[in-house]
Amino acid sequence: MNATTSTTVTTQVAEVAIVGAGPAGLAAATRLAQAGITPVVFDLNASPGGQIYRQVEAPQAGARITGADYRRGRRLVEAFRQAEIDYRPDSRVWWVQRSDTGFSLGVLRDGVSRTWQVRYLMLCHGAMERPFPFPGWQLPGVMNAGAAQILLKQGGLVPDGPPVLAGSGPLLYLLGWQYLQAGHPPACILDLTPRRQWWLPLRHPRRTWHARGYLAKGLRMMSMLKRAGIAIERDVDALEAVGKTSLEAVRYRQRGHWRERPATLLLSHAGIMPETQLTRALELPHRWNAAQRSFAPLRGETLAASDGLWIVGDAAAIGGAANAVREGTLAALALLAARRSHAAEGERESLRRARARDLQARRLLDEMFRPPLDIAALPGETLICRCENLSRDALERAIVQGARGPNQLKAFTRCGMGPCQGRQCGVNASLLLAHCLGRSPDQVGYWQVRPPLQTITLGELATPNTT
Ligand SMILES: Cc1cc2nc3c(=O)[nH]c(=O)nc-3n(C[C@H](O)[C@H](O)[C@H](O)COP(=O)(O)OP(=O)(O)OC[C@H]3O[C@@H](n4cnc5c(N)ncnc54)[C@H](O)[C@@H]3O)c2cc1C
Repeated sequence: MNATTSTTVTTQVAEVAIVGAGPAGLAAATRLAQAGITPVVFDLNASPGGQIYRQVEAPQAGARITGADYRRGRRLVEAFRQAEIDYRPDSRVWWVQRSDTGFSLGVLRDGVSRTWQVRYLMLCHGAMERPFPFPGWQLPGVMNAGAAQILLKQGGLVPDGPPVLAGSGPLLYLLGWQYLQAGHPPACILDLTPRRQWWLPLRHPRRTWHARGYLAKGLRMMSMLKRAGIAIERDVDALEAVGKTSLEAVRYRQRGHWRERPATLLLSHAGIMPETQLTRALELPHRWNAAQRSFAPLRGETLAASDGLWIVGDAAAIGGAANAVREGTLAALALLAARRSHAAEGERESLRRARARDLQARRLLDEMFRPPLDIAALPGETLICRCENLSRDALERAIVQGARGPNQLKAFTRCGMGPCQGRQCGVNASLLLAHCLGRSPDQVGYWQVRPPLQTITLGELATPNTT
């Protein structure tokens, strides 16, 4: 900047900021607004709804495809729209840190990054698909099932030809069913869920009772897929994407035999896990959640992670949309209690009880769909960090040469330094270290997360924020 030029950069102020306008953020914001507080809500998307209720105000896929659950989201979004809330769509929170009076946030919108100062912060930023490495997963023609579902919900887009769906978890069957409803059925489903896990409902009748709605929905979808003639291949325990410059075939091992089928699109899935970039950037303690096979930030009974900070919904632990709504309301009530503006103990108690019931069902689903991912069993050439082209063998060599933790592994190899900023390889790098060093994921930990947490160009960073 020229020494004689001066630009006044302004900081915007709010009492409460909420990151994320999915079920958790919508419920929290609406409840706060009912109590007379106007929170500012930032969301990456152009409209409210989050992952599950994406594009719910102007659906691009017909009601037959999105199903009854989707309609529930409309009521949530309507209440949010009617409340007095400072909603800021298309806004990326790309850094966050503590300040003397609460929290500072960097928010990118319309090509300009603005600084916000807030007293209370609610992180409702949701989950991400678990990175699911297998040989060839870097090839064009291989993508996440969740990403394909986003294209379906947001743009009404379906694949040109029938895709192969592979992995484990409810989303795999949901997407297969949605493509069927859209008139573009998948070629087949390769299910990597171990057979013994399908019998778990019989061993846990109480949890099964709580999960009966989810299980019945899943069984309905499976039977519709079968009736439509879609092959569901079970007992698959290894997967490979084959092709020179793009996907040409999918290889899979089923009951000890390798099979191959031609394919131009493979949609893979191994469940979802909390997105921890924001919570890591705040240097909050995280623990390995063995049931959900992911790191998760620690929080207390009231969902608070520290003074003035709540982590809500799938951002803390995968609980589903109904749980996210309950947690959003509970966090709003906890914030009101912290401000001594509202007691509502009765409402809190009934939400807590309903939440505990729902989490019983979740425990069963977690066990049934334990991710089919064994880092120790992956062939050495499998890429762990796709951005930097680093295979399991390359990372193991660095560990043998003395990399003792995630930060060292990063420094030795550049693992996690590509465009995704370590989001796609971080958990697998930690798991590989744990395996090679004979330690637990908690002992190994995770690498240090630094801003930018979301992509931001130098031009956007340099554009002064003067309004
Ligand atoms: C890819 C994917 C697909 C899914 N599909 C289904 C489905 O079809 N059916 C189903 O039952 N469940 C589905 N789930 C699970 C379901 O979405 C969640 O259980 C539920 O939506 C959790 O609600 P939430 O409010 O905690 O988070 P979300 O609904 O994920 O909402 C989080 C919001 O935060 C925003 N956000 C994240 N980071 C930032 C940031 N840095 N700055 C600003 N905004 C940010 C996101 O844009 C998003 O709108 C899916 C999950 C994923 C990851």
